[in-house]
Amino acid sequence: MAATPRTNTNTRSSSSRGVPASIRINLVGDKYGKLTVVGFGGYRGTAILWRCKCECGKRGDYYRANLRSGNSKQCAACSKKQFVTQGTSHGMYGTPTYRTWERIIRSGQVSKRWQAFENFFEDVGKKTSVNHYFVRKNTTQPWKPGNGEWTHKSKARKNSRTAKQIRYKGRCQSLSDWAQEVGISRTSLRRRFEAGWTKKQALETPATH
Ligand SMILES: [Zn+2]
Repeated sequence: MAATPRTNTNTRSSSSRGVPASIRINLVGDKYGKLTVVGFGGYRGTAILWRCKCECGKRGDYYRANLRSGNSKQCAACSKKQFVTQGTSHGMYGTPTYRTWERIIRSGQVSKRWQAFENFFEDVGKKTSVNHYFVRKNTTQPWKPGNGEWTHKSKARKNSRTAKQIRYKGRCQSLSDWAQEVGISRTSLRRRFEAGWTKKQALETPATH
């Protein structure tokens, strides 16, 4: 806390109450950005401080020099908020789109361009519904422009189904393709695997009906 001014003998006017007579320029009532000067804030060393109230309601002491130069325009909480809003473009911080980006960032497999939310947002736009997922076209490639898109969940499921490849006897194809080849339904084949059948059993046991 700043030292209490020694020469507090000022009785000239109510508006300058608490402001030492040695202070020639009274800033009380002045507005600097979001800050309104509400009183004398004391000294820090030889520097003069003014007590200000921010538009958000927070009070604090600010250097006179910073107020007058424009360096102090709002409280720390407000400037942090402003930074976050600006830094994430269009105020998207915390939105489903932003959270999706955070999730892919955590994967550690993100192209340099998409490490900035602004670029990601510019390339792929907003998540338009809760039923949209952000998916990679090629999961062996990093998240990058051209290899990531919003996909409706019905389509995303289909993609992950077809993406699941089954390797047997040196050949690799989807469950659907195997089912067709061995002449049973995809559902039956999936149930066989779920029931713990080996690939040989599942793919070589003829359908019972
Ligand atoms: Zn504030």
